[in-house]
Amino acid sequence: MLPENFQFTQSNLQDYLTCPRRFDLRYRQRLQWPAVQTAPVQESERRMKLGSDFHYLAHQHALGMPMPALTALAENDPSPELGAMWHSYLAHRPAELSADGVRLFPEVTLATALNGWRLAAKFDLLAAQPDGRVLIVDWKTNLRRPRSDRLRARAQSRVYPLVLAKAGASLLGQSVPADAITLEYWFTAAPADPEIISYGAPQLAADESFLANLIGQIAAADTFPLTDDTRPCRFCAFRSFCERGDVAGPLDEFEDDFAFDDFDLDWEQVSEIEF
Ligand code: SF4
Repeated sequence: MLPENFQFTQSNLQDYLTCPRRFDLRYRQRLQWPAVQTAPVQESERRMKLGSDFHYLAHQHALGMPMPALTALAENDPSPELGAMWHSYLAHRPAELSADGVRLFPEVTLATALNGWRLAAKFDLLAAQPDGRVLIVDWKTNLRRPRSDRLRARAQSRVYPLVLAKAGASLLGQSVPADAITLEYWFTAAPADPEIISYGAPQLAADESFLANLIGQIAAADTFPLTDDTRPCRFCAFRSFCERGDVAGPLDEFEDDFAFDDFDLDWEQVSEIEF
């Protein structure tokens, strides 16, 4: 059984869709299994730090920290890639972020109720325009731009717009119609080629039905089978526990094959703005 206060997120829903057993081990049993996801380990950790540092710079910029100070931070970083990422951001960040009258909400968490459970989303950035349109920006720091079809199939592409449509009013002071929402995945690896997903009422209805059914299925499940597709096992910390191999998959293949969620948040530590 899931604890009553369990909250669903795009991360744990994606884990279930990838492998029900992974969801069980990670979120129901809360098993800590000492294995790395990708190799080489040091390069994985360096990439994670680079992604975290880029998110920090973008966050500070949205909060109003002067650009020259942030540029100096990026350019003086020991990793030259951070400076390159930052200059790509300055040249190609979404135009909506600097539109007249825009209100920016970086690193904000919203939550709604769905099928009797809580569904939460932590956004990198929301940009609310004076005309009511709202852009969700998600910064991606993958080595390569993920494929569009895989991005669009991710749970994130359903969860983020739905949660904003359902719970955005408390943050923005006005309701957020589905057709006012756009989700943009912005890539440091392809700054001029973002993935832009327009939302609308039919998609909201489809996502609400899909996610409600999925949440109900997970909540009622008493078996969590191992995935038949063994490819995700190469990048899964539980692979030796599941007897699906001992060696971590290479970082470059991980980023190529799977949309890379930059940071696993401890959602129990995240306080929400709205429920
Ligand atoms: S190793 Fe494979 S089967 Fe086991 S939890 Fe991970 S993805 Fe699922």
